[in-house]
Amino acid sequence: MGFLLDFLRQKAPKSGKDMPAYYRKALTATAVLLIVYFVASFMLFGLAGGWWEWEPLGAAAVMTLVLWGIKRMGPRLAGLIESFVIEAWCVWCVHSFGWSSSVQQFLIAPLLLSFFNVSEKPPLKLWFWSSLVVLRLVLYAYSTHHAEAHMLGEQAQLLFQVFNTAFLFMVMGCLCVLFSTSMQDTERQLRIDNQELHKEAGTDPLTQLPNRRAMTNAINSHLSRHSGEPFSVAIADIDFFKSVNDTYGHNCGDYTLRTLSAKFREMAEDRYRVCRWGGEEFCFFMPGLNLDEAGALMHDVCTAVKMMPLSFEGAEFSITITIGVAENDFRSSLQAILAEADRKLYMGKNSGRDQVVL
Ligand code: GH3
Ligand code: MG
Ligand code: MG
Repeated sequence: MGFLLDFLRQKAPKSGKDMPAYYRKALTATAVLLIVYFVASFMLFGLAGGWWEWEPLGAAAVMTLVLWGIKRMGPRLAGLIESFVIEAWCVWCVHSFGWSSSVQQFLIAPLLLSFFNVSEKPPLKLWFWSSLVVLRLVLYAYSTHHAEAHMLGEQAQLLFQVFNTAFLFMVMGCLCVLFSTSMQDTERQLRIDNQELHKEAGTDPLTQLPNRRAMTNAINSHLSRHSGEPFSVAIADIDFFKSVNDTYGHNCGDYTLRTLSAKFREMAEDRYRVCRWGGEEFCFFMPGLNLDEAGALMHDVCTAVKMMPLSFEGAEFSITITIGVAENDFRSSLQAILAEADRKLYMGKNSGRDQVVL
């Protein structure tokens, strides 16, 4: 019952412009197949039944018009006309050749077209579905009370039955392939978009390093899998970065942040993860390293940054960083350990900068 309520609550897009390409393709494929089917029926009635009538050609002509005008009239009207032609054809065939012609099975095609039309309102689809059920019942009742208007002959009747079944399977197969391919494509695209969005949401656009949120998530997920293991964290901050901006310009400041980030990435070698913590601050996570090991590693980083030549639009300069390091004491929360690293960073700032404080 719930799925029916969900179906009825679906919102249809307001304009026909939102009609997906697969629906137009489905209408086109159905129209092409039906044109072939109507012309072939005309030939069959004439050649095998000796009965040349204009109705199948009329139906083929309307379908050709629909095919020609799908883009102009829009998929909604085209779908309606296609459905109407199929229904009229079923009525005419049951009246002419009786129930055993199997043509009534074609009523499934408009049903499928209507339900896969995302621009139609759900109650309208249910109404259409019930009208098709009623039409089928009426046709059945009619066929039991009225003799066929035309006798095709046993062979032609049998051929027509086979013909109807074969074409119905072709139409249904075509629609199912189009709809399922489109659904799979949409799902795959959604998955890709989702992954990209997820990556973008966790990446700092300037440095391409993970941002604070991605880093916190990564640390928490690592700790949940390796609880009880030692680890250390460090917070690094560029010394007198404001003067880099003031002296060489904001673009040079951005260049410095990008170059420094590349240096951090290059030196990582799986020994640490690094992120842009905010502004000109970076956070390091060093799984498995105690305070001394982490301190030695951060010392190497600090020295490498000092030696790193920077040149921007003719200006040559270098920078230093100050780093505060804290280790997991197996009592404090991650937040508290990070706060301890931050506290040590500011101790370093207050005692001359360009150093690692353990
Ligand atoms: P200290 O040694 O005490 O850390 O001095 P500082 O000048 O580095 O510190 P302060 O907090 O006064 O200045 C940080 C500067 O970093 C100020 C801000 O404009 C700059 N900054 C933060 N984010 C960016 C950025 O994305 N690009 C650029 N170019 N500058 C940034
Ligand atoms: Mg600074
Ligand atoms: Mg700062």
